[in-house]
Amino acid sequence: MTRASEPGSPLVEARGLSVSFASPKRFLSRHKPLIVQAVKDVDLTVNAGETLALVGESGCGKSTLGRALIRTLPHSAGRILFKGEDISKLRGETLRRARAGFQMIFQDPYASLNPKMSVFDTLAEPLIVHGTDNRTAIRRKVEEMLDAVGLDRAFASRYPHEFSGGQRQRIAIARAVILKPDFIVADEPLSALDVSLQLQVLKLFDDLRQRFALTYLFVSHDLARVFGFADRVAVMYLGRIVEIGAASAIVAKPAHPYTQALLAAAPSPDPKLEATREVPRLTGEIPSPANPPSGCRFHTRCPSVMPLCRTLEPEMRSAGPGQEAACHLVGSPAN
Ligand code: SF4
Repeated sequence: MTRASEPGSPLVEARGLSVSFASPKRFLSRHKPLIVQAVKDVDLTVNAGETLALVGESGCGKSTLGRALIRTLPHSAGRILFKGEDISKLRGETLRRARAGFQMIFQDPYASLNPKMSVFDTLAEPLIVHGTDNRTAIRRKVEEMLDAVGLDRAFASRYPHEFSGGQRQRIAIARAVILKPDFIVADEPLSALDVSLQLQVLKLFDDLRQRFALTYLFVSHDLARVFGFADRVAVMYLGRIVEIGAASAIVAKPAHPYTQALLAAAPSPDPKLEATREVPRLTGEIPSPANPPSGCRFHTRCPSVMPLCRTLEPEMRSAGPGQEAACHLVGSPAN
């Protein structure tokens, strides 16, 4: 479990992974609780050393998939492999040890830090929990990590309320990276920050990845924001991966109508162009995962829907080198 991974080799894999929840039963209701399938039969590989962005609208299951991959949420079917070993059924102490290689960074840097813990204690805690007890070594590692995330060492004695949102996110990132984890799930880590801070924090993620040979699953609702940062992009819709490929290939030629709509809706960096361009908006709401549409799950909103789409769920097909999409139009002569 501890052997190093070659860059580019599979680090974390989902095989037929599903995650279901029972929705809360309504008070005095005689009906059984609904089963919500938040993630359905997902195959996904995250390679060592890469940044894989997982994008889609809110409620599509991307955060749930991220948490299931690092075993902080139970899965209902399928397998999770870490460095080729099945960790799906690990329990107790073995699971706790495997999880030492995984870390999570949350959306809200205000809620994710304990207000009663100083920066030093916040960063020292994971070291102590995982067996470092030498006070000098702990102080050295905490100071090195503050340097690495661009925070003054003198901040170690301060508390979260004394920092700005961007600084708090740097502290949360330092806490996640201090154990040099194999795999980090960053769950919408930019969405509480303004645009200029987003760029700084993205650059920090990239610097740390290169410096500590990290691997990220970067969960985001903002497809435009992850281009130029992610190596590959996986697009998720209603619990399923609908397209995956190199970020450069997807931005140049998105194959799935949902990816095309997300890209078309992304704001242009040119304000004049943004004011005049006509954007083909996605119509309708994302359907409930408790009652997903038959056939292709996107058919109720797809501008290219065909009769076949309502009955037959499309499988992943090659859409170009290293790019796949789940759509009946992919690979058809018209495409
Ligand atoms: Fe649209 Fe049909 Fe493709 Fe689904 S399979 S994305 S409904 S064209």
